[in-house]
Amino acid sequence: MLAPRAGNRYIRPMATVKDHAHREHSGKNLVSAARDALVASGEQWTAMRGSVFEELARHDRPASAYDIADNLSAARGKRVAPNSVYRILDLFVSNNLAMRIESANAYLANTHPGCAHDCIFLVCDECGEATHVDDEAVSRRVRAIAGESAFRTRRPIIEVRGLCDSCAG
Ligand SMILES: [Zn+2]
Ligand SMILES: [Zn+2]
Ligand SMILES: [Zn+2]
Repeated sequence: MLAPRAGNRYIRPMATVKDHAHREHSGKNLVSAARDALVASGEQWTAMRGSVFEELARHDRPASAYDIADNLSAARGKRVAPNSVYRILDLFVSNNLAMRIESANAYLANTHPGCAHDCIFLVCDECGEATHVDDEAVSRRVRAIAGESAFRTRRPIIEVRGLCDSCAG
């Protein structure tokens, strides 16, 4: 288990991925890696998209479209509609810039926008912390099981509910 990263203790990358040049980013590097990934997939990095991503990346815990819209409205001094934030978050999810935590109805910035993984989340019932882990053996197995049922997998969702280390303490 890796020690929590200073300033980003709720997103703990613990990649067990060794078959490719896996890169995790944080802070300003994360924003530019996200911008590069979005532009590479043929989408524009508009000012609004940039603000939504920066706001999302500032959140340690999963944030909802409403959380982000509220914060952006306060920062800009004019109302940002949750619906437009939601559409941008959706675009981020389909382009691997953000990950949706289904059981929390909220989003996290993806710390590895440059490479695709079926991310696994350990979600704390007490504090809402969502620890992000990648384990290719697990996600490959889930996809294989789905395939055995002739199911065409788009996105396996693996979320583990429980207590984080500090809440269990
Ligand atoms: Zn990777
Ligand atoms: Zn991941
Ligand atoms: Zn907790």
